[in-house]
Amino acid sequence: MRVGTALKTASDGGRSATIIGNMRFDIVTIFPGFFESVFAHGIVSRALKNGLVTVEAHDLREYAHDRHRTVDDRPFGGGEGMVLKPEPLAEALEDLGVRAKAREENRDQRSEIRDQATRVILLSAQGRMFTQAVARELAGLSTPRTWTSPRGPRVERVILICGRYEGVDERVNELYCDMELSIGDYVLSGGELAAAVVVDATMRLIPGVLGNEASGEFESFGAADAEIDVDVEGVPRSQHGAGGLLDYPQYTRPAEFGGLRAPEVLMNGDHAEIRRWRREQQLKKTLKNRPELLERAALSAEDARMVEEMRREKKRS
Ligand code: SAM
Repeated sequence: MRVGTALKTASDGGRSATIIGNMRFDIVTIFPGFFESVFAHGIVSRALKNGLVTVEAHDLREYAHDRHRTVDDRPFGGGEGMVLKPEPLAEALEDLGVRAKAREENRDQRSEIRDQATRVILLSAQGRMFTQAVARELAGLSTPRTWTSPRGPRVERVILICGRYEGVDERVNELYCDMELSIGDYVLSGGELAAAVVVDATMRLIPGVLGNEASGEFESFGAADAEIDVDVEGVPRSQHGAGGLLDYPQYTRPAEFGGLRAPEVLMNGDHAEIRRWRREQQLKKTLKNRPELLERAALSAEDARMVEEMRREKKRS
């Protein structure tokens, strides 16, 4: 029997938000209630209501069968803290239709049974870094090149395992997970915040979730112009595919605030000039805050010339 806490939003009167959508996220956690408020706002909540995405949080304790519903135990070898036991996690995953991988010495049909469109992810500080590129892979916007096992069809379902305490028994990772993901070089007290980050960043890239198809491409870390095949009505070409750079700074009314005027160029209606200015600002901000991104960015000859000039300028000052 599937035991799940379907997310409820404030305005759906307690109705379950479990609808068949384009993409599904299942989260295994000891704190399913954590996600109710996290996904009850803005774009994410709209995507849930529209059925474009389904998120379901599953209470790990439902898979612990002793009187105290114990999900943790002391680590072998001693040391501080507790570790999430493998049995409740394995049972939760099997209940979600995930089969253990066949071990090398015992390759049988079990590995064939695994659902090709499902990714099982362990949130872990020891994982590969979660970046916009990974979010794009999960959302099916780019060809997965980095998954540990070669997979065919687009991802339709992501299962996220939230660790707690000192982490998760490593055999769960080995037997059930496609990858470990970290959201940054710091240690959180649990995987729930990390799971919410992965769901949010991935879901907003799913076609239809944002107002227009391509707007995710125009943000920080977005694809290059050349990679954007969607020409969307209403997206002014005064904007750029970010090409792996940071976004340009944004301004709105009033034109003057705190003694500072918004840049005149943005108010003169010359779209070619606005486009040039924004590109320059993207390069400037990336060089200042995240220079390493420039190494991998999709730069035109004109971009490269501007970066050189900015570097020279920096040395002079
Ligand atoms: N002992 C672990 C270590 O040093 O790597 C840290 C365990 S942490 C206190 C508990 C759980 O929080 C982890 O099992 C993981 O699920 C989650 N977590 C902590 N930091 C994370 C990060 N940077 N990214 C993703 N998940 C994280």
